[in-house]
Amino acid sequence: MVKTGLFVGSFIPPTLGHLDVIQRGARLCELLYVGIGIDPKKSQALFSPDERLEMLREITREISNAKIVLVPGLVADFIRENQVDVLLRGLRSSADLDRERELAVTNRQICGVETFFLLSDPKYSHLSSSIIREIASFGHRLHGFVPEQIEESVFQKMS
Ligand code: ADP
Repeated sequence: MVKTGLFVGSFIPPTLGHLDVIQRGARLCELLYVGIGIDPKKSQALFSPDERLEMLREITREISNAKIVLVPGLVADFIRENQVDVLLRGLRSSADLDRERELAVTNRQICGVETFFLLSDPKYSHLSSSIIREIASFGHRLHGFVPEQIEESVFQKMS
């Protein structure tokens, strides 16, 4: 059992694929931080960090050892300040691997943290926040793409 894990992402918006990784990760860690990264290159305007915090809280209400936090700076700084033992990431396909490899090696170089990868459940391996933004922008409902609790609000905001 890992003592403290961190699953960090942009979550614009959170998807069923993210939730699956959070549920599975929480079974492997005593405490799982779910960190909202603030990447200035990403479409922040759609959902503020606080809105993303609220959505993630809502969909993880039943997962008592998941703690939702903002990670405004370098992930490595959060790791050091909060005694995180392991970074968790999801892997959907080989297309994710190159970027994930860069991030994992860089984080290990900066603060010595190891990254554990959870393979995406095949049910969700096609899901990304960007594809959800795209279909919602054309007015498609989000059932089966995002967790039910936030389906309506994400759709209203994005369509
Ligand atoms: P980032 O831009 O930081 O990659 P994302 O919110 O897109 O932020 O993703 C955060 C993490 O969630 C990454 O490890 C990503 O591979 C993983 N992830 C995203 N979508 C899925 C999915 N459908 N299944 C499993 N993991 C996923």
